[in-house]
Amino acid sequence: VFNPALVCPFCTGTALTWRVSGGRGRVHTLTSIHRAPTPDVETPYVVAVIELEEGWHMLSNLVGCPPEDARIDMPVTVEFVPVDEDVWLPVFRPAVAS
Ligand SMILES: [Zn+2]
Repeated sequence: VFNPALVCPFCTGTALTWRVSGGRGRVHTLTSIHRAPTPDVETPYVVAVIELEEGWHMLSNLVGCPPEDARIDMPVTVEFVPVDEDVWLPVFRPAVAS
């Protein structure tokens, strides 16, 4: 099983644990990628640091939103994308106003 990260970014401690999140947050910062790391990846796509409501950040992809419409501070919700049978990755899309 993976660790959530190698070390704590604040004190380099290694006693890290997984925490549950409700999956809602905001875009903290973002960038759009126009040159794919491998030819099978469709571009452009948006990589974003998401600030979760619980107070921590995670690096993810922003989906369901063209790069030109992506904004810092936009509310987002998580969804999970299957990579293979055992692995699903969290990505975020703009939250639907309710
Ligand atoms: Zn620490």
